[in-house]
Amino acid sequence: MADYNNIVFLHGQFMPMSEAKISPMDRGFLFGDGIYEVVPSYDAKLVGFGLHIERMQNGLDAIGIKLNMGVDDWRNIAQNLIEKNGKGNLGLYLHVSRGADVKRFHAFPENIQPTVFAYAFTIPAPPIADKLKVKQYSVTSTEDLRWKRCQIKSTSLLGNVMHFQQGREAGVDETILYNQRDELTEASACNVFVVKNDVIMTPPLDNQLLPGITRNMVLDILRKDGTLHIQERPISMTEVHAADELWLTSSSKEIAPVVELDGQPVGNGRVGDIWQLAQTLYSANKHNY
Ligand code: PLP
Repeated sequence: MADYNNIVFLHGQFMPMSEAKISPMDRGFLFGDGIYEVVPSYDAKLVGFGLHIERMQNGLDAIGIKLNMGVDDWRNIAQNLIEKNGKGNLGLYLHVSRGADVKRFHAFPENIQPTVFAYAFTIPAPPIADKLKVKQYSVTSTEDLRWKRCQIKSTSLLGNVMHFQQGREAGVDETILYNQRDELTEASACNVFVVKNDVIMTPPLDNQLLPGITRNMVLDILRKDGTLHIQERPISMTEVHAADELWLTSSSKEIAPVVELDGQPVGNGRVGDIWQLAQTLYSANKHNY
């Protein structure tokens, strides 16, 4: 799926992707001046929808885009896209840019309409919590060279794109990032978890990382289960390299086990038991969000 016959939503209407047009003066195009979300849907069941829309609203507020749309409006668009494009494993991409002006000028223009765009694309089936069958990830690491407002899910993704590409060119799936203090931040399109001696750790929320919806759901589900220790705290790269297990989390991957970091095995180089437990709990509980 995701071809030019796809039905997409733009400027308040549903239309084939081939007919969807935006102005070259759109500030999303010129400046990356916008906010986006990706919400997973399996068999027409949206995961974490309210949490995604809340984060989108926080992003819009943070950059001063005024949009008169609530969670029900977004849900209506999402459900229409699912109906029009077929069920299955879908990512719903929701995008709001500040809109199109008549000139290219940095200051926020007055009285322009935000551009609202949404479409559906195929995502992989969610992982089955079986450590022998799940896809195993390899990653590299590098210093985080993005901007200082990574908590905003901005459409200005060039920094993330360049870090992701670095990993691709190194022949791995993702790039894990660390700050100038050698502390883990996140990955180019995922949050990161570290497991050591049965303790599950992830960096605390601040301007250095996106407040991932999957991250928050994983933490909430594990805390409610109560069997594992959890810490949200700064994690040095020395600790990351000494981890028993390393996970990536994102809406389309859920919890992805990493078995190789910078060419070295993570722990014993195999998918771990704690991953299996965490993904089992996540699979069982994700539709409660
Ligand atoms: N961090 C970054 C930079 C991302 O782009 C993403 C997802 O796209 C995530 C983390 C994971 O966020 P979520 O779990 O909300 O998909």
